[in-house]
Amino acid sequence: MERTYTSETPQQVGQKVTVCGWIHARRDHGKIVFLDVRDRDGLLQVVVTNPALDLHPEDVVAVTGTIKTRPEKMVNPNIATGHVEMEASGIEVLAHTKTLPFDITEDTQKVEEQVRLRYRYLDLRSERMHNIMLLRSNYYAALREALYARRFVEIETPMLTKSTKEGARDFIVPSRFYPGKFYALPQSPQQYKQLLMTAGIERYFQFARCIRDEDLRADRGFEFTQLDLEMSFVDEYDVMKTVEEIVKIAIPKVGGKLRPGDFPVYEYQEAIKRFGADKFDFRSVKEKKEGILGFAWVIHFPFFKQVDVKDAAEVRDSKSGWTFTHNPFSKPIKEHEEWLLKRKNIDKIMTTQYDLVCNGYEIAGGSIRAHNPEMLRSTFAIMGYNDKEIEKSVGHMLEAFEMGTPPHGGIAFGLDRHIMLMAGETSLKETIAFPMTSTGRTSVMDAPTDVMPDQLKELGISVNEPKSSRRS
Ligand code: ASP
Repeated sequence: MERTYTSETPQQVGQKVTVCGWIHARRDHGKIVFLDVRDRDGLLQVVVTNPALDLHPEDVVAVTGTIKTRPEKMVNPNIATGHVEMEASGIEVLAHTKTLPFDITEDTQKVEEQVRLRYRYLDLRSERMHNIMLLRSNYYAALREALYARRFVEIETPMLTKSTKEGARDFIVPSRFYPGKFYALPQSPQQYKQLLMTAGIERYFQFARCIRDEDLRADRGFEFTQLDLEMSFVDEYDVMKTVEEIVKIAIPKVGGKLRPGDFPVYEYQEAIKRFGADKFDFRSVKEKKEGILGFAWVIHFPFFKQVDVKDAAEVRDSKSGWTFTHNPFSKPIKEHEEWLLKRKNIDKIMTTQYDLVCNGYEIAGGSIRAHNPEMLRSTFAIMGYNDKEIEKSVGHMLEAFEMGTPPHGGIAFGLDRHIMLMAGETSLKETIAFPMTSTGRTSVMDAPTDVMPDQLKELGISVNEPKSSRRS
């Protein structure tokens, strides 16, 4: 079938074409029926002179007809094809549609979350959600282009791996080959990207799925996407400069507005003093009204903090009461390297961590890494690990660091947050095609679910209380 997009029809006046899509609206005017046919690009008005036609909203159709210029007073300035219409000569119904659970021709924000997520494929048909999905795809394309132009190499890292220590609980996956043993899903590609620096890649990136078993909040599920990158032979300012360049190229390409000039840089202590937090919104009222994005860097964070006893992952990661604030693989600032190696003044050691904040949110974070094995060993020793425990936990990294690992550092952007801010949304879920409910259930497909007893048997797993469920 030779198919024309609705967006192409204004250039095809006088021609007979076929347009495919959904019946967005139907207006009956006695002998004439007006249909709005919607495809991925928008709407086209179709004039049908067969009133007996059995067509329902959201039926999927292929309509053939001639594109005509509309009379002056019939022009619709609200749609891109508003000065043309199709005079239909044939309509084929490709799929019939029953009455939908909610109206997708209107903004679906008011529809109950459970219903939106159960029928997410319908929700995504609505104009606002469709545009967010396009924005996301276009932003990825702009970022990729800027990264490739700077000689970054796109590499995928494993999903079935070992605990990656990003400060959250791991999701674990049982192994059939090694009953009683488990993989962990990656909380981030942190260690693999560092190993890629040992491998001589020098500049790596990945649109990485990260999976963290964190307590759920209204707008957050267990999975998110990072733009993850790592660079060799760099210091903090090299990474920050590269990231700033990429952001300044990619955001305007998808219509985002930035404050002019360099992103301001604040010391952590200065940010706390000035804004009362390490994530802040420093834009003027006028800038806020104009939807401008206000980026700033925060640097020189404390490396360690006392474990929060209410945080199960922190309690598990630390054996001494001290844990890392951001990333255990970071290097301290030059002046504090000695303190880390000698394990003194622990509360005063500052890390090379740099966070990028925007409009009150932390939207990226990274650091220069400890590529000297003694330094990484010291970090884990401060967290109370003995030599054997260090070896078990990060022995593979220490080994790689003894085989020619260049100095390196990187960063990861929380892409869901970037899209949320650019789209002017307030929930991360609005930016994700198939997010989880706030009670940890998947969209459309109802997971988690029971599995067959023989699957459990094969994995050597027995479940104590199969019916118990902490959340409904
Ligand atoms: N792995 C870190 C994170 O996920 C980011 C980084 O330091 O590159 O937060």
